[in-house]
Amino acid sequence: MGTIINGKDLAEKLQHDIAKEVKELEKTALRPGLVVLLVGDNSASQTYVKNKQLAAQRIGIHSKVMRYPETISETELLEEITFFNQADEYHGILVQLPLPKHIDEEKVLLAIDPIKDVDGFHPMNLGRLFAGVPHTIPCTPYGIMKMFEAYDISLSGKRALIIGRSNIVGKPMAHLMLAEDATVTIAHSKTVNLHELAREADILIVAIGQGHFVTSDFIKPGAVVIDVGMNRNEEGKLIGDVNFDEVKSLTSFITPVPRGVGPMTITMLMQQTVEACRRQKLGE
Ligand code: NDP
Repeated sequence: MGTIINGKDLAEKLQHDIAKEVKELEKTALRPGLVVLLVGDNSASQTYVKNKQLAAQRIGIHSKVMRYPETISETELLEEITFFNQADEYHGILVQLPLPKHIDEEKVLLAIDPIKDVDGFHPMNLGRLFAGVPHTIPCTPYGIMKMFEAYDISLSGKRALIIGRSNIVGKPMAHLMLAEDATVTIAHSKTVNLHELAREADILIVAIGQGHFVTSDFIKPGAVVIDVGMNRNEEGKLIGDVNFDEVKSLTSFITPVPRGVGPMTITMLMQQTVEACRRQKLGE
């Protein structure tokens, strides 16, 4: 059976290291600050924001959640972002997605000063990543790279298949793995022969948002399987895109859901807030 990659434990260890770094920064009178902008009352978004706030508190990052009604206009939200772009005590700005339909997500992401874009979704930061000169990196793929590092999983020369091509997971994941010399394929809903492609993959990353989509017939024996998916089943239980119980015996490494990729995403957000603070205040 494959080794279960314990994202929760790894996240705790990394958060401990980040907290130490924050303490060191405090000696120079610097305190990293993160502001989260939350529009409306989407329950999943509320939970994500709460978890981010708790992590920030544990680490010693100064954090604030700004809550806006669902009816806030695009102009008003853009004005808020402009305000926080100039607010000295916040080094990171995060707009929790999704936004209500009347607000253009692209415009909002573009409005965030790239140096404060700790989510790494601004086209400038995505462009830097794709050009091989990254600053801020989308937190989920970044967290997965940290997992590879912690578990000594080498990517060089490996065949990787990423299922899902979003700007926040699939595409940045591909570039990060490419930079570590993996041979990367990205699949999506129009890909034909997905099973065959998957069975050739030494490393399989699944980020599609469909509970238990990946079954044993997708797996090359000995593959590393990373499950990004977060779905609720009929009983309201959190499940991944991979049928963990069915495939785990075929893998060399596998992430569970929960306690896999999720805690790493939040951790990388914290790390990038500290890095943003250093960049803005110390010119690093
Ligand atoms: P998106 O909905 O933006 O993208 C989903 C991708 O999956 C699309 O590229 C889509 O293809 C592809 N896809 C959907 N169905 C299939 C299929 N049957 N076969 C092949 N490809 C398919 O999702 P996100 O990237 O934002 O998120 C993916 C999942 O990861 C979700 O469950 C989300 O909740 C979770 N997530 C978890 C995080 C964490 O921290 N653990 C962080 C971010 C996301 P096409 O482009 O053709 O439509």
